[in-house]
Amino acid sequence: MYKKLSFLCLLVFFLNSNLIAAEKKQTVITTLFPLYDFARNVGQDNISVILLLPPGVEAHSYEPSAGDVVRVTEADVFIYTSRQMEPWAEKFIRGIDNKKLIVLEASSGFTDNDPHTWLDFTKAMIMVNRIRDVLAARDPANRNLYQAAARQYNKKLAELDTEYQGALSGCRDKVLIQSGHFAFGYLARRYHLKYIAAYKGFSPDAEPTPRNLAELVDTIRQNKVKYIFYEELVSPRVAETLAQETGVRLLELSAAHNVSREELDKGISFIDIMKANLNNLKLGLSCQ
Ligand SMILES: [Zn+2]
Repeated sequence: MYKKLSFLCLLVFFLNSNLIAAEKKQTVITTLFPLYDFARNVGQDNISVILLLPPGVEAHSYEPSAGDVVRVTEADVFIYTSRQMEPWAEKFIRGIDNKKLIVLEASSGFTDNDPHTWLDFTKAMIMVNRIRDVLAARDPANRNLYQAAARQYNKKLAELDTEYQGALSGCRDKVLIQSGHFAFGYLARRYHLKYIAAYKGFSPDAEPTPRNLAELVDTIRQNKVKYIFYEELVSPRVAETLAQETGVRLLELSAAHNVSREELDKGISFIDIMKANLNNLKLGLSCQ
C-alpha cells in the first residue's frame, strides 16, 4: 500500500515538474505559415509556436477573432510579416493588454509594395535572423541554441535558392502564367522569369475582369503556353475557365501563406512546399 502511494506521489511530482517545464517555454504566435515554420525551426523545443491563422483560411482577408486576442494577451512574442500583408496587425496589437509582449514585423524595411517577401529566399533568411534575435531577447539563456538553429535553417534556404537557380536557368519557356493574385513577383524576378498573374493586385480580393481574362487567353495562345499555375487554398475557378478556353493544363503553385488542416497535421514544411513548387515549375516551363 505504501509502495503504491509513494509511486503515485512520485508520478504526481513528475507530472507537475513537466508542467512547470512546459510553462517556462516562451509562447510565440505567428500570423502566417512561413513565419510559423521559421519560428519552429529556430526555436525548436525551447518554444511553443502557435499559428494564428486557422488552417485553410485565406490570409489577406483574415480578421482576428476574440480568441486571438486572448492568445496574444498570454503570449511572449507576436510575429507578423508587414503592415502590407497583415493590415489589421498594428491596430490589433495596440488593443492587446500585455506589457511583456515582444512584437516583430519580420519584413519591416523591405520597401517593395509586394508583401510576399518569404518567396524571395534571401529575404526569408533575413526574416529568420530577425526571429532568432527576438527569441534570444526573450530567452537569453538559450541564445546559442537559437543562433545555431537559425544558421542551420538558413543553410537549407540557401541550398533551396541554389537549387532554384540551377533548375530554372535551363527552361524552354520563360513565361510563368498564374491564375491567382500577384504573389510570385519576387520569385520570378530572382530567377529571371516573366510573370503574369490573372489578378492584378497583391491580394485575391480584386477578381480579374473579363477583359483581363481575354488578354490572358491571347497571351496563352500567342506564347503556345502548355501549363498555367493556380494558387493554394482558393477555388481554381479562373484557372479552369482558362483551361476550358485554351486547352492549357493546370499545376499548383503554392505561395504558402497558409496550409490545410491535413497538411498541418502531416507536418508539412515551407521547404517541402517550395520543393513541390519547383517540381511543378520544371514541368510547366519545360526545364531540363
Ligand atoms: Zn498573397
